[in-house]
Amino acid sequence: MTVRVRIAPSPTGDPHVGTAYMALFNHVWARKNGGKFVLRIEDTDQTRSTPESEAAIMRSLSWLGLDWDEGPDKGGPFGPYRQSERTEHYLEHCRRLLDAGHAYRCFCTRERLTELRARQMEAKASTRYDKHCMALSGAEVEAKMAAGEPFVVRLDFPVDGETVVPDGLRGNITFDNQQIDDQVLLKSDGFPTYHLANVVDDHLMEITDVIRAEEWISSTPKHVRLYEAFGWEPPRFWHMPLLRNQDKSKISKRKNPVSLDYYERIGVLPEVMVNFLGLLGFSMPDDVEKFTVPEMIEAFDWKKVALGGPVFDIAKLEWLNGLYIRELEPAQLAARVAAAYLNSDAMNAIAPLVIERVTRLDQFVPMVSYMLGGGDLDYPWENLVPKKKFKGTVSDVRKALLKAAETLDGVRDWNHEALEAAMRGLATELEWKAGHLFAPIRTACTGRKATPPLFETMAVLGGPLCRARIRQAATLLKGKKLPE
Ligand code: GLU
Repeated sequence: MTVRVRIAPSPTGDPHVGTAYMALFNHVWARKNGGKFVLRIEDTDQTRSTPESEAAIMRSLSWLGLDWDEGPDKGGPFGPYRQSERTEHYLEHCRRLLDAGHAYRCFCTRERLTELRARQMEAKASTRYDKHCMALSGAEVEAKMAAGEPFVVRLDFPVDGETVVPDGLRGNITFDNQQIDDQVLLKSDGFPTYHLANVVDDHLMEITDVIRAEEWISSTPKHVRLYEAFGWEPPRFWHMPLLRNQDKSKISKRKNPVSLDYYERIGVLPEVMVNFLGLLGFSMPDDVEKFTVPEMIEAFDWKKVALGGPVFDIAKLEWLNGLYIRELEPAQLAARVAAAYLNSDAMNAIAPLVIERVTRLDQFVPMVSYMLGGGDLDYPWENLVPKKKFKGTVSDVRKALLKAAETLDGVRDWNHEALEAAMRGLATELEWKAGHLFAPIRTACTGRKATPPLFETMAVLGGPLCRARIRQAATLLKGKKLPE
């Protein structure tokens, strides 16, 4: 049997460190076994998926050297590799489940479902769909469909007994069926949910090992039931421990930058990033900490994957980066810095912003040092609080910065017009003078009070760095108060 693995990212937002972490372990397992590594794009959420995000995911994985064998860009024998292009497979398989009586159409309104839930919560019962629509006769279903009533398709999940999920890292995990809902498989818009599309694709793409984050464990009994209903053999499941913030919560951009672009931008070397991600989930023989992907492939053993929640410790990442940098030849370091920050694209983007402001060439670099790469910005927190006629508190500024970062998460075309429109919109929403919002954003993104035009500057800095710096500024304001 040829080992076939996949990662199945949803193309929403910046490429995530968690995607790279899963890509690494899938890549290693495929290469260790002479198997195939598939990149499948799970873009069934039409409102949130974007082609820019898909391209960014591929670019980041390539930056890290985690190459895949089949995917939307490469093709392959099991394509297409984008779920939005595979709708007919999901519809056909959904029909099969309906015909065999493993799934049923549900016409319940939102009001009924809300009311049912409230009743169950009051009775302290598990909140699951009560199979109301399973009792409809064929003729009733036909009539409702003919009348154009919207419906979803649900999986008929047994109410009694238990479902066992075999996990390569944890052994058998047993679920009480009472706790599991009749999962919606097909939404009222005719698009599949993650569960249906994921199982159908893993089967059709002949995936032998599903290596994914542990947050999917609770979905897996539904998947096991789907395999059973289709009469298919399930793949092996390996649920990797989730990456965590310092406080052990699930890694999140509120507490830790999670965008791969951010780490690239601050000058983490790609070979360090993969080493670091490997170290988070796997122990090399003799606990060696510095290793390459080929070395990891050679030594890889599931027994050496620890289940404790690995903390994404940026200090450790930086320490490791330092180790690698010290092994470079000085000329290599110079070349890498120039390629990352002093390249002609970067210079050409910055030059128009400073041309009116310099009178000597030597002023250029110091004037825009915060644009040449990341660097740690060092400014007193007081500079984040607007001065002129500002009535709000430090905590108001902190909240506004968090709101700004969130708003900027949603800006797709990162150019100065879009940025200005988004931030003016936020100022209106907050009922703040635009200047009172722009001042803290300027300090957060640049560390300075005076800079070239703010939105042009932010356009050059790029989304991942601006958003991370704005969130870091909000953290800096935590618990701070201006003197009375
Ligand atoms: N689309 C899911 C995600 O975004 C895939 C999870 C899985 O690997 O099954 O992570």
